Amino acid sequence: MQIDIKQLFENEGQIIPFVGEVDFSELRVEGLSNAKVKGEIENRSGIVTLRYSAECHMTYLCDRCLKECTAHFDYKFEHMVERTLHNDDSEGFVLVPDGILDLGALACEDVLLELPSKYLCKPDCKGLCGICGKDLNEVDCGCKSDNTDPRLAILKDLLK
Ligand SMILES: [Zn+2]
Ligand SMILES: [Zn+2]
Repeated sequence: MQIDIKQLFENEGQIIPFVGEVDFSELRVEGLSNAKVKGEIENRSGIVTLRYSAECHMTYLCDRCLKECTAHFDYKFEHMVERTLHNDDSEGFVLVPDGILDLGALACEDVLLELPSKYLCKPDCKGLCGICGKDLNEVDCGCKSDNTDPRLAILKDLLK
């Protein structure tokens, strides 16, 4: 998804709205859908700002209980856009030397940084019982967990 913003740099007050879809298959994140993106690029007094939202969803298995879940993400991003680097600090700027903004590539980068590092069905998921394998969110299986560490079990045998 590429947007030609050559004219925008010349025209103070101009706004380019856009809406589209960004393909996330290149990110190789399992279960992640493509994103619907929507936003605008504005030249306000010579300062060009890009604002957009990226909506996508992801199907994943809970890290603890392996239940299949779907999470919806609606991220918002804002960047300053420049044609040339004014100083060595490019932090936070999107550079478009040729005046063509590659929104697809940018959205891939932005969303990848925001995705959660842990995937749980709920923040306090109790996971599966290490002994009987039952889902502890649904049942209290009653297994005694104080003997679960096999190294401890060996020690206990030695101390008999
Ligand atoms: Zn879970
Ligand atoms: Zn159990």
